[in-house]
Amino acid sequence: MSAIVAIVGRPNVGKSTFFNRLIKRREAIVDAVSGVTRDRHYGKTDWNGVEFSVIDTGGYVVGSDDIFEKEIDNQVNLAIEEADAIIFMVNVEDGVTGMDETVADLLRRSKKPIFLAVNKVDSNNRIADAQEFYVFGFENLYTLSSINGSGSGELLDDLVKVL
Ligand code: GDP
Ligand code: MG
Repeated sequence: MSAIVAIVGRPNVGKSTFFNRLIKRREAIVDAVSGVTRDRHYGKTDWNGVEFSVIDTGGYVVGSDDIFEKEIDNQVNLAIEEADAIIFMVNVEDGVTGMDETVADLLRRSKKPIFLAVNKVDSNNRIADAQEFYVFGFENLYTLSSINGSGSGELLDDLVKVL
């Protein structure tokens, strides 16, 4: 069985966009307005000859903070349980948010390898801004743009080494 990699993070950071890029099919539902992904989506991909399954987490209910918080906890805990490695996605446009901190707190309790992916770094002049995410204490920090693909190679090179 191939290893499982889960992509977690609050809505709108770009998880589904990155997932689609990885599996090269427009399977996950990307919503420009709310960033809603209705379900967990599974796909297969490979990098440097290593095959793995990817989970795009979502299922958030927009408009109710209560359900929202509970659902994000649920998705992160599921990912910690079933994944061999976790991509924790945040985005440089919004910087560190309270919801990111909630996710980081949950992930910190996990022994699974965490890869912090700072998305929406569409140009090199945003790389410096991305450094603020080191505040979470995760060593493996990568900057990338899921839209244009830059930076994703470095993340995937390191990710497949632990699978
Ligand atoms: P999710 O809720 O985390 O799954 O986020 P989505 O993949 O649905 O993306 C939310 C919004 O961010 C969409 O409008 C995407 O087009 C946009 N987006 C995703 N990745 C990038 C990126 O690398 N750069 C920019 N500028 N926008 C992005
Ligand atoms: Mg999504």
